[in-house]
Amino acid sequence: MTEMITILTGAGISAESGLGTFRDEGGLWAQHRIEDVATPEGFARDPELVHSFYNARRAQAREATPNAAHEALAKLEARYNGEVLIVTQNVDGLHEAAGAQNVLHMHGQLEGALCGACEKRWAAPLVMHPSDTCPHCNAAATRPDIVWFGEMPYGMDTIEDALARSTLFASIGTSGNVYPAAGFVAQARQNRIPTIELNLEASQGGTLFDERRLGPASKVVPAWIDELLSA
Ligand SMILES: [Zn+2]
Repeated sequence: MTEMITILTGAGISAESGLGTFRDEGGLWAQHRIEDVATPEGFARDPELVHSFYNARRAQAREATPNAAHEALAKLEARYNGEVLIVTQNVDGLHEAAGAQNVLHMHGQLEGALCGACEKRWAAPLVMHPSDTCPHCNAAATRPDIVWFGEMPYGMDTIEDALARSTLFASIGTSGNVYPAAGFVAQARQNRIPTIELNLEASQGGTLFDERRLGPASKVVPAWIDELLSA
């Protein structure tokens, strides 16, 4: 049986590349309420505002460069004698920019456009407008291909299948006690595979992981991957 590693990544891996999240003070998110820019209801109320918010995030993400943690994961994918699936909660393209190919964006991506009418997808231009029409059905229902609060994350069946086949599960830069990570680690434990968490700070309360390494992703991830590749 081919060995397989499933790796979940979150905001903590892109933070060192300068991309903030709604949990950070300052930055893009601070000027907006989550319910206005990250829910289907907010988009229905004010598509202009929502598009301009994601246009700004897209521009910022295009300026960002992958850090040592993204690069180490791409190296793992290229050199590991088995399969590697990167499941990311991040909507930036930094894993791909570092050279990773097997990346599942469970919360969508800034570089994607989605038609709200026919659900077809295409590459997003730098600037999107509510009046943009779908290249497939011509409806003016174009939205960023982002999974908003209240919507179902992408690829849950694929992730479940990957966890069932994996021989190791790792979580990087995301709290292991919050869903969906908590659900993934629970499933990995049920499948009796080793689990490891790499995070900047200890998450509150207990951890479900067998092993935990604390520190900046750009430090702890390359060290862990060097160990994996030399094992
Ligand atoms: Zn369409």
